[in-house]
Amino acid sequence: MENNGVHQNFGQAQVIEAPTNITIKGILSLLMANTNGDKDDKKKVISLGIGDPTAYSCFCTTVDVQQAVVDTLRSNKFNGYSPTVGLPQTRRAIAEYLSSDLPYKLSPDDVYVTAGCTQAIEMVLSILARPGANILLPRPGFPIYGLCATFRNLEIRYYDLLPEDGWEVNLEAIEALADHNTIAIVIINPGNPCGNVYTRQHLEKIAETAKKLRIAIIADEVYGHLAFGANPFVPMGVFGSIAPVFTLGSLSKRWLVPGWRLGWLVTSDPNGIFKNPKFIERIKKYCDICGGPATFIQAAVPLIMEQTKASFFGKTVNMLKHTADICCKKVEEIPCITCPSKPEGSMAVMVKLNVSLLKDISDDMDFCFKLAKEESVIILPGLAVGLKNWLRITFAAEPAALEEAFGRLKSFCQRHSKQQN
Ligand SMILES: *Cc1c(COP(=O)(O)O)cnc(C)c1O
Repeated sequence: MENNGVHQNFGQAQVIEAPTNITIKGILSLLMANTNGDKDDKKKVISLGIGDPTAYSCFCTTVDVQQAVVDTLRSNKFNGYSPTVGLPQTRRAIAEYLSSDLPYKLSPDDVYVTAGCTQAIEMVLSILARPGANILLPRPGFPIYGLCATFRNLEIRYYDLLPEDGWEVNLEAIEALADHNTIAIVIINPGNPCGNVYTRQHLEKIAETAKKLRIAIIADEVYGHLAFGANPFVPMGVFGSIAPVFTLGSLSKRWLVPGWRLGWLVTSDPNGIFKNPKFIERIKKYCDICGGPATFIQAAVPLIMEQTKASFFGKTVNMLKHTADICCKKVEEIPCITCPSKPEGSMAVMVKLNVSLLKDISDDMDFCFKLAKEESVIILPGLAVGLKNWLRITFAAEPAALEEAFGRLKSFCQRHSKQQN
């Protein structure tokens, strides 16, 4: 029997085990422990594993953003508790920021300020969970959803993203998966781990499908606006009048401050389906449990959102486009990995691993552990995001580090290849 948080009696003490879900951080720390650390002077550890770009100086937030936080901190006005739903000015700033891309205007009351997008995920799943309910999650996906659903006893039903079609949602599969106990579908766009940016038409089709199935959409837009391909970023909230949308986001990725823990959960729902007073009460009560992020960081949000220059955003997006290009070019030089869909957004790409071309590698896990050991390069095995024998490569790295990492990856693959060349 699987041990997903079930009770086990050991004498008097009741021990409840942690869910056994794989997490990205868990696997990466095992991989890191498997390297020679920085003992090897010639081969410093390069991690293309985690999506924290702040390790590289080319992905640094701006002085203006830092100054906004310094000012709110030094003002001595924000040392106390904030309302647990968030400071009024913070909710207003987020509502205005998101409304500029929508055909309707969000109200500050639609916004709940959270400790990063992670807490918004935790909140929305907890609020929606009820006995017998299930939720549709993308595969490959972001493991926190599965972990959180397990903690909340929500049944998980994975739907496949289609690698040959720009990782679009398999809409027919969704209709077959959902039933009257399905509460929501999670859409991550721009996508992690796939780097997809969906077209307006595809997003509309997803909304129509959700309407037909009478389910809500949870739109993870933590990479909102980090799009550099043919499709511009379109928020799911644009189709909020077709099906109600929970929009999840944070400052973490676009402003390059993941450690500040400032995010949001927003009801993008012009028809007011979520406006039921009992439901709003439920969200507010849950906010009371969570407590919200640090008050002085919240207080800086209006300044951050109004004053960040377009040139800062442009620089980040151009850098990501550049590093994504390096990544795709280098992948082409290595026979055992292929990239079916070029990344057009976010900070990661999925590449397919052909183990049959390698002589002594059994699967993606084995590949990543041996790579870490021999080359001090960290790449996430696809299994961690739900796809065996794929790899997730994070390209939010300094170009020189990326080139070096791919050089090592290439010689690793040559060394383990069936045909030596
Ligand atoms: C990084 C990430 C998050 C978490 O964002 P935080 O603001 O750091 O909590 C959520 N969803 C996806 C898809 C992410 O990549």
